[in-house]
Amino acid sequence: MSTRADQRTPARPSAHGKPRLAAAPRAAMRVLLIEDDAMIAQGLQTALRQGGFAVDWMRDGKGAAAALQTTAFDVVLLDLGLPDRDGIDVLRELRRRADATPVIILTARDEIQHRIAGLDAGADDYIVKPFDLDEVTARIRSVLRRAAGRGDPSIRHGELRLDPVARTVERGKVPVNLSAHEFAVLEALLQRPGAVLSRAQLEDRLYGWNEQIGSNAIEVYIHGLRRKLGSDAIRTLRGVGYFVPKA
Ligand code: CA
Repeated sequence: MSTRADQRTPARPSAHGKPRLAAAPRAAMRVLLIEDDAMIAQGLQTALRQGGFAVDWMRDGKGAAAALQTTAFDVVLLDLGLPDRDGIDVLRELRRRADATPVIILTARDEIQHRIAGLDAGADDYIVKPFDLDEVTARIRSVLRRAAGRGDPSIRHGELRLDPVARTVERGKVPVNLSAHEFAVLEALLQRPGAVLSRAQLEDRLYGWNEQIGSNAIEVYIHGLRRKLGSDAIRTLRGVGYFVPKA
C-alpha cells in the first residue's frame, strides 16, 4: 500500500476513446418496480431497500417502457394489470429488443392465464398476490443467481471476499457485518480497484431516483467501512473521491 497509490489516476479511457457507460461500477442491485397500486408499491419498496436493493418505481406502462429504455436494471418486478397498458406488452417489448433483464411478474391468485402468458412472453418467475415480502426478496435473489450462471460471482480482493448474491463479506474467512449501504459502497469500490468514485457517483449507485440522501451519508458509510475493515481499506483522493487500492 504505497503512497503512490494515492496519486494514481484511475480513469482509464476506452480503447476507442469514447466513454464506456457499461463499464461503470455497479453497487446496489437495482430493481425496477412497475406497479400501479400505491400501497403494494410502498410496502415492496421498503422491504427491497431493507434488503439492500436500490428501487425505482413506475406506476404505468408508459413510464416503465421509458425507464427500461434508458436505465440498466438488475431485475424487474412487473404487475400485469397496469392502468394504461397490459404488463405483458411491456415484457414482450423488452424481449423483442433482446433485453434479457430478469423479470418477475406479479399476478393475482385467480389470474392463472395471465401467469402462463407472462411466462410464455419471457418472464423468469412469478409471484402471486398477496405475497410475503420475504418471499419477494428470496425470489429476486434466486432469479439473480440463475442470471449470474453457475460461476462463483464473488469479488476477491486481498483478504476480502464479497458475495454480491448472498450479500456477505468476509475478511480472511471471518464474516464482516455490514449495513446494506456500507455493502453497496464497498461493492461499488471493489468492482474496479484503483478507480476513484466521487461522492456523487456513489450516491447515484446507492439510491433510487426519489430517495432522499443525507449530505454526509457517503462519508458515514466510508467511516463505517474503515472501522470494520481497517483504516487503509478505503483511501480518499482529496477533492475527488474514494477508492480501494489495488491488491
Ligand atoms: Ca395493478
